[in-house]
Amino acid sequence: MNEERKTLEQREQMTDLERLRHSASHVLATAILKIWPEAQFAAGPPVENGFYYDVDLPHRISPDDFEKIEAEMKSEIKANHQFERVEVSRDEALDLGKKGRLAALSERPEPSKFKLDIIENIPPEEKISLYRSGDFIDLCAGPHVKRTGDIGAFRLTSVASAYYKGDEKNPQLQRVYGTAFKTKNELDDYFAMLEEAKKRDHRKLGKELELFVFDDDVGPGLPMFLPRGAVIAEELEKLAKETEFAAGYQRVRTPHIARESLYKKSGHLPYYAESMFPPMELTEDVEAIKRDPLKRESSETASTLQRSNSSTRYYLKAMNCPHHHKLFAALPRSYRDLPLRLAEYGTCYRYEKSGELFGLMRVRSLQMNDAHLYMTPEQFEAEFNAVNEMYLNYFKLFGIDKYLMRFSTHDPAKLGQKFVDEPELWKKTEEMTRNVLKNSGINYVEVPNEAAFYGPKIDVQAWSVIGREFSIATNQVDFAQPRSFDLRYKDRDNIDKIPICIHRAPLGTHERFIGFLIEHYAGNFPLWLSPEQVRILTIGDDPKLRDYARSILKELRAHQVRAEVDDSSDKINGKIQRAEQMKVHTMFVIGKRDMDADAVSVRVHGKGNFGAKPRSEAIASILQSIRERRA
Ligand SMILES: [Zn+2]
Ligand SMILES: [Zn+2]
Repeated sequence: MNEERKTLEQREQMTDLERLRHSASHVLATAILKIWPEAQFAAGPPVENGFYYDVDLPHRISPDDFEKIEAEMKSEIKANHQFERVEVSRDEALDLGKKGRLAALSERPEPSKFKLDIIENIPPEEKISLYRSGDFIDLCAGPHVKRTGDIGAFRLTSVASAYYKGDEKNPQLQRVYGTAFKTKNELDDYFAMLEEAKKRDHRKLGKELELFVFDDDVGPGLPMFLPRGAVIAEELEKLAKETEFAAGYQRVRTPHIARESLYKKSGHLPYYAESMFPPMELTEDVEAIKRDPLKRESSETASTLQRSNSSTRYYLKAMNCPHHHKLFAALPRSYRDLPLRLAEYGTCYRYEKSGELFGLMRVRSLQMNDAHLYMTPEQFEAEFNAVNEMYLNYFKLFGIDKYLMRFSTHDPAKLGQKFVDEPELWKKTEEMTRNVLKNSGINYVEVPNEAAFYGPKIDVQAWSVIGREFSIATNQVDFAQPRSFDLRYKDRDNIDKIPICIHRAPLGTHERFIGFLIEHYAGNFPLWLSPEQVRILTIGDDPKLRDYARSILKELRAHQVRAEVDDSSDKINGKIQRAEQMKVHTMFVIGKRDMDADAVSVRVHGKGNFGAKPRSEAIASILQSIRERRA
């Protein structure tokens, strides 16, 4: 959470909804003061899904108090006070604070201590302003809505504790959260969405549908996919491999660990060390080389020996790029080999803090839909465009209609510190990237000063059908790493040149993408992704019927369909219920009449019965839907 003071620029950019929510926080403070006049307030900003106000108060506020507070808030809104801005001198502001008049309804015996502290921290050149609504006066730079009546609908949601300015050396305050919207309808929709999100939570569904598990002995943040989850990963991988093959990618395979020297070269060490698992010390290989006269002679091991004092450390890889760069360098390359596109579903390990781990969304082992594209500057635009097209095709396939590309660029003032010192390359690649985005009509925003160290990047945020936001993919331009790895190709003029590299991972990691898909589909996967595609249910357990079921099973499996049979003696309704519970996509219900007609009765999860169909027709339609990856 950003607890820093907002800049004037950020304030100007506050959306209408943020203004409304921030105004609601003033109304919240007013209501609390009406009940507890001694309350001291710190900060009350709008946040992602609402607003809060931090309050210091002997009474411990609990959700039981919300009704009472909300009633006061409603009467403030009904009174429709104007939000009036008053500019004051620093001395006037300090004076009011000392009289307890800031974030208060009247002067009070105790000074407004947090507001006094905030005044001290306002830069001398910044104007100090107050906002008044009714009796309530607050130190505030704004902006606000015009009147309290403009706050259409609100609700208090929770209360938590928070340290003043986020520092645990400071006093602990109570943070009262709420949310507000322009209309009651929007507010209701929001809470309905939250309800739906709870039902779709990938951790809950992951357990119910037997997709993945965590185990204490394996370790936190290290998910294991059960067979039903593993098939989803396999299907995604198949999709990626087919798509990438058609786009001219080549597949490579690399180990999960590497020497420290590799990550020093890439620049990940020491800068990224905190996000990597601690190193493994291996002394054995150096000893073995020293003992073996043959190996001692080869030039490769000579350099190994030279480094051996400092480089017996191995790291689990936190990214695949350095390995891929080494594969680029493994063969002499000419312009005729470019663009070279190396792809791998590479498993990486990142040491996320245990407090930050979250289901499949934040994990310590990740299988990434990775690829590195090496190209000449002339090829950049076409390659970058093709990568974007790939993103968009995937979104279409998964029914992701709401997404935003965040194009992060560099800040010329920070060249050589935050950004690699290549002013010309920055300018050129950013311009090319911007052109591609503009020309393809993609929904994007440009964010200055947030590029990666080695080049501009694009993060893709997607929203699931229930409006949950995920950052699922990144696409980065890199002109620094090829340089530090001394990657070269012979150009037309026979001169050695350094390629540009694009890092891209449209399907992100299996972990996060599957977590996203579970919630996006609420576990009701389309047939091609469904862990169990078809279940054959017999009405009764007549041996002939069981044989018929088995023959259908055999035929489906021969076509690689994930099918099962339930030919137990249970009642058919119970069997259907069990299949529905596991969200099995299609059920073939068969009784004697179906068998005699060489037919099956088709039932689709969540859609109901489709009646009897000839067996061959039913199977053909299953196969076609899978082949076309139908939604
Ligand atoms: Zn304000
Ligand atoms: Zn990479």
